[in-house]
Amino acid sequence: MPLSRRDFARLAAAATILPRAAFSQAAPARKVRYAAVGLGRITADHFMPGTKQGSLGEITALVSGHPEKAKKLAAQYGIPESSIYSYENYDQIRDNPNIDAVYIGLPNSMHAEYTIRAAQAGKHVLCEKPMANTVAECEAMIAACKQADKMLMIAYRCQLEATTLRARSIVQSGALGKIQAIESANGFNIAPGEWRLNRALAGGGPLMDVGIYSLNACRFLTGEEPVALSAYSSVIDHDGRFDQVEENLSWTMQFPSGTVASCTTSYGANLDGYIRLHGSKGSLTLNGFGYSSIHLSAHLNGKFHGDPGENIDVLEQGSDPAQFVVESDYFSKCILNHTQPGPSGEEGLRDVTLMMQMYESAARNRQA
Ligand code: NAD
Repeated sequence: MPLSRRDFARLAAAATILPRAAFSQAAPARKVRYAAVGLGRITADHFMPGTKQGSLGEITALVSGHPEKAKKLAAQYGIPESSIYSYENYDQIRDNPNIDAVYIGLPNSMHAEYTIRAAQAGKHVLCEKPMANTVAECEAMIAACKQADKMLMIAYRCQLEATTLRARSIVQSGALGKIQAIESANGFNIAPGEWRLNRALAGGGPLMDVGIYSLNACRFLTGEEPVALSAYSSVIDHDGRFDQVEENLSWTMQFPSGTVASCTTSYGANLDGYIRLHGSKGSLTLNGFGYSSIHLSAHLNGKFHGDPGENIDVLEQGSDPAQFVVESDYFSKCILNHTQPGPSGEEGLRDVTLMMQMYESAARNRQA
């Protein structure tokens, strides 16, 4: 199944990536130098190792509220102590010529502030999902980066992952026929004490954290924007974890073509993340939104009931942090080539806008 031109461009832009042996290319004239902001799990365990394994970026500075953690990581990455910043003196990154861009791996409520301060300090921004907790914050982030003439990418790693791109090209080739319905779920049984359960920091519950994968995949795979949605949320476990955020949220969406989607997210159950598209000529399932082993299986080009059509079965190659190698090199390439990233600020804003509509709908449905 050939990739669409747009998907091919994404893969080609990240061509330094997975099968490195297959892309023998000269070392870039210079690498993009990143300050990693917030040294938690996604930053220290995934993005930093991914950048190190990649070809186009390097970690040259750290921003943290924990000096000891920062010093330890700095030693591992050969970063001078003079390039360790706190949240208070973060704006001084402006004066560090060894920083081109920041990677923001902070709790959701801090994404807007640290993106805007980075742009004002003259740095490009790769910000984790969800982009921010409100539409107004997303708009302010986009405006700040535009004003500073700096790039803004939201870290939708699945949009750069080869198996997911293959799925998208199958959907868009028409081999599934008309997409009639989509189902998707993503979630996990959350431990108490996480900042993810604090509304002020997280902006909401599992929808903001992991439901966003289902939402984004529906939009990304179909290339359509929902025209209507409705949501229901609930708390079943009254054990203190869900005093501030929802435990479960399910929503339905309708797309302009008539495709209907039904999605669920939960912090109360370990839902194996997946998305399944049902078309008039077949079906496609992507199992997993995780860091590796995304599994694509599909039945294509079937006619009516009983026709088996063709089967496709593909497993993502590469293990963690391969997706972060792709993500980091992709954004670096955008910066080096002055091309706007596909997963843009506007893309992040669209998801946040829809998630806010889902919370409004769930609140209305609770009162009804
Ligand atoms: P984490 O709790 O492991 O790390 C958060 C970091 O922020 C820590 O270093 C912590 O010290 C720092 N921090 C600063 N102020 C804080 C505060 N007031 N409360 C709590 N921590 C504070 O979280 P994480 O899992 O690394 O998530 C960070 C961001 O990355 C979130 O936006 C999350 O949605 C996103 N994320 C993305 C993916 C992905 O696959 N793209 C996966 C996991 C997380």
